[in-house]
Amino acid sequence: MASTRTRQEAYDRICQDFFSALDRIIPLDESKPLKGQTLRDFELQARELKEAIIPTLLEERAVLSAAAQMPTAGRCPSCGSERTYLESAVRQRELRSPGGPVVLSRQDARCRACNRSFSPSGS
Ligand SMILES: [Zn+2]
Repeated sequence: MASTRTRQEAYDRICQDFFSALDRIIPLDESKPLKGQTLRDFELQARELKEAIIPTLLEERAVLSAAAQMPTAGRCPSCGSERTYLESAVRQRELRSPGGPVVLSRQDARCRACNRSFSPSGS
C-alpha cells in the first residue's frame, strides 16, 4: 500500500487531535471555564480524550506500517504468479476498535495471470 503520509505528517495529525481534545478539557484560554467538579467528571473527560486520539493513532500507525511492508503486490495467492500489480484505487473501510471507530485504507492487488484481485497484506 502506498503511503500518502510521512511520519512527520502522521505525528503532526496525532498531535493536532490530541491537543484539540486536551484543549476541550483544559482550555489554555484562562477566560474559558473548566468543566466538571468531581473525579467522575474528570474520568469522563479522560475517556473523551482517549476516544478522540486512539482512532487517529491507529489510522496513522496502520498507514505507516502498510507503507513499510507493502512496496509491491507480491505473489498471487491463487496461482502463485509474480505478475501482479497494485491497483491505483484505495478503498476505505471503517472498523470498530476499543477506542472508537477507525478508518483504514486498503489497496488491492491484481494478478495479470489469473486476473484475480487480492489483498497484498493478506487482510
Ligand atoms: Zn494469479
